[in-house]
Amino acid sequence: MMLVLVVSTCVFAAALRRDGASPEGTLTQISVINALMLGQYDGWHRIDALLESGNFGVGTLDHLDGELVVLDGHAYQVRGDGKVLPVPPEATTPFATVVKFDPGDAADGPPVTTLRALDEHLAKAIPARNHFAAIRIDGTFASIQVRSVRRQEPPYKPLEEVARSQSVWTYENVRGTLVGIRSPDWTAGLNVPGTHWHFLSDDRTQGGHVLDCRITKATVRTQVCNEWRIVLDDSREFDALDLKQDLRKELQEVESKRGK
Ligand SMILES: [Zn+2]
Repeated sequence: MMLVLVVSTCVFAAALRRDGASPEGTLTQISVINALMLGQYDGWHRIDALLESGNFGVGTLDHLDGELVVLDGHAYQVRGDGKVLPVPPEATTPFATVVKFDPGDAADGPPVTTLRALDEHLAKAIPARNHFAAIRIDGTFASIQVRSVRRQEPPYKPLEEVARSQSVWTYENVRGTLVGIRSPDWTAGLNVPGTHWHFLSDDRTQGGHVLDCRITKATVRTQVCNEWRIVLDDSREFDALDLKQDLRKELQEVESKRGK
């Protein structure tokens, strides 16, 4: 049995898109970020079920075995050694966020030199700061710095500790896609406030959790989501966690740390 919580907001929706259409779409997340922060790495939600909820998104895999990228309805694993593999349907995830991507018109991407500059540009271009947004950027990257983590074994250490031994790579002059899920600040503890970016190269051989990037040329497609669905694990371990802790500082470390 799974517990499902759905939050739906329609008020002010019409003002959010420049073309006047209401934002539409359901963002589905598996578990909550604080559970992952506390070391809840055992996968329990199957990838085939995840792909029924969305064709675009980010996450991780059972035993925190690398970064999960969901793109065009396919799930890819970027392992801790940098290898990119298709994820089998029976594999499981302990934490992921996906949407059924149905974006508006494509816009030109900004030729930014940092990830921070990209986020600042998008904050202005997509001002729906209290809604979720799925953001897809296809293009050429002068450089992109990504990380992944290695499979963990129980007893699990907290994510902040695991992230200290992450692997970091920089790819240059690569064509690919940024898969971004932007969560509002008020979702702290539940999802990752700000934009959680994963990358996958066009040839599906390079990818990871994005730490920085320099964009040469790109197109941006966006979907603002007005419905939020959280699927919760019904295990005893999940029930035993103290999820109300404020782990924002630790999460910030995990999300943006550049490694050694
Ligand atoms: Zn990530």
